[in-house]
Amino acid sequence: MRFDNYRFAPEVKNNLQLLGFRKPTDIQYKSIPPIMKGEDVLAIAQTGTGKTAAFAIPIINMIHVEKSETRNDGVKCLIIAPTHELVIQINSVVLSIAKGTLVRTMAIYGGVEQDPQINQLEHGVDIVVATPGRMFDLISQGYLKINKVRILVLDEADHMLQLGFLNDIMFLVKKLPNYRQTLFFSATINEEIKELAYNIVKNAIRIQISPKDPVSKNITHSVAHIKMDDKRFFLERIINEHPESKILVFVRTKVRAERVKLAMERVGITTETIHSSKEQDIRYRVMSQFREGIIKVLIATDVSARGIDIADVDYVINYDLPDIAENYVHRVGRTGRGIKKGIAVSFCSEEERPMLEEIEAFMDKKIAIADIEKEEYVQTLVLSQDAVSDWKTLLKEDEKLENPSKQKKKIKPKKKK
Ligand code: ADP
Ligand code: MG
Repeated sequence: MRFDNYRFAPEVKNNLQLLGFRKPTDIQYKSIPPIMKGEDVLAIAQTGTGKTAAFAIPIINMIHVEKSETRNDGVKCLIIAPTHELVIQINSVVLSIAKGTLVRTMAIYGGVEQDPQINQLEHGVDIVVATPGRMFDLISQGYLKINKVRILVLDEADHMLQLGFLNDIMFLVKKLPNYRQTLFFSATINEEIKELAYNIVKNAIRIQISPKDPVSKNITHSVAHIKMDDKRFFLERIINEHPESKILVFVRTKVRAERVKLAMERVGITTETIHSSKEQDIRYRVMSQFREGIIKVLIATDVSARGIDIADVDYVINYDLPDIAENYVHRVGRTGRGIKKGIAVSFCSEEERPMLEEIEAFMDKKIAIADIEKEEYVQTLVLSQDAVSDWKTLLKEDEKLENPSKQKKKIKPKKKK
């Protein structure tokens, strides 16, 4: 069924058309009708399947219709998400679907001054998209009134639990009006999430999409067996072979993120990094530059990129395998979003083999192996700009060994990490 056939306000339909949303994704098709009926919903669907619009469309439509009948002030809907990047992203989706309607929305998150947020609240909003921390600050100071909230949305509930927001959520739920609609969205489901969900939803309609393969069918993913020390040469090669592509590279730690950036710099490739040590406004700027394509290669850690929707990521490279098997799914899910196609490649070193097995066990599936012929492997190292300089260094070191007196002070042998 196309969105044209839904009973949405004309403004909402028009916005969906502008966004290029012609028909609902599976999760939208199944979630929208019960949400419109006022049911509680527990929805589980892979990353990239359009969960944001699945709750945003019906909520906006309901509030718009209600406000066109009776002017009704106060915050009616709270959407909670785990990180400020997600909050900004969700809010921008809500804004674009609510354009031209009576629905007003805003984002609340920490790390920035609160006065502008207070100001906006005082002008009246219907939907607040928030991270727990700043939201509680504004509630306790009396700026954010939640006594009229009738819809609560928990987005990325699995990630919220991982980040330890359980108590915050339970605390918030106790403060909200009892009579309300609760919508619960998650990319994965486990016992802990089920327990949380059934603590806060009533007779929820449970909707689960394609649990058999946690990786969306739009993504072609494979694993390449590469030695730890050779990974940078392969990254260099992939980037050089796809100069026009948008590439998202995942590494295990922030230190490694910076190290890979330096390695790429040495061979003339510009990249940016995003991780939790970076200031929030810098992170946001880097994200939007990547989104706009000003930055082609972004190196990220798991936490910084989870749930983030960037259109048109052509390649996801798992430079390191993730520490948590489930994160594999979230990482490769950064490509092939909505109705697009994507490619993901994981670099797996000898040391990471056990992790690869864990990931495959988690997915209950083997990951296809990207066969690299021995010759091709060697070629990749030889062709690297970095290998050339290393080779020169080696020669110099050789020279030094032969003429110790002449070279002694000038050349220090490169320290191996
Ligand atoms: P999820 O929260 O499930 O990870 P998002 O809500 O971030 O996924 O949506 C992923 C992508 O799919 C976004 O780029 C969004 O614009 C696109 N999308 C969502 N719904 C539709 C639709 N009905 N038709 C086409 N694209 C869509
Ligand atoms: Mg989402």
